Amino acid sequence: MSTAEPPRVRVGIGYDSHRLVTGKPLRIGLVSIPFDKGCSGHSDGDILAHALTDALLGAAGLGDIGRHFPDNDPRWKDADSRLFLEHAVLLLAELRYHPSSVDAVVILERPKLAPHIENICAALADVLRIPTNCVSVKAKTAEGLGEVGQGLAAECHAVAVIERVP
Ligand code: MG
Repeated sequence: MSTAEPPRVRVGIGYDSHRLVTGKPLRIGLVSIPFDKGCSGHSDGDILAHALTDALLGAAGLGDIGRHFPDNDPRWKDADSRLFLEHAVLLLAELRYHPSSVDAVVILERPKLAPHIENICAALADVLRIPTNCVSVKAKTAEGLGEVGQGLAAECHAVAVIERVP
């Protein structure tokens, strides 16, 4: 098996969580969402973009977002997380992989994400260069449990499937 071809299809998982704080815009899945709080963090705090970037990097065995975009690097201060996703897609392409489908669950108490899901899927599909119907985003509440349930934080789980060009 030592000379095996790289696998044609690979899967990666990603997770992110951020504290919700006042005075920061809320960005989820590259979309600005009207709310009185946003996700704290060095960049724009986009939990969905970060979880998805980790899923894509993980699928290709390329480590995680912290390795490629250290949060002590001033270049990424308040950075648009679109950059992270774009860079992950580029790194995949260098290995002849491209995303084929992604799925994510965003968990936050408020605001309701349902009215924004379509825009989020379109924005993610655009940067991943895949059809919108290959992007799935779901939203859940934590039913009042824990810090997410108390509205103090938000979190996201994401899975990415990538495929190698023959
Ligand atoms: Mg993050």
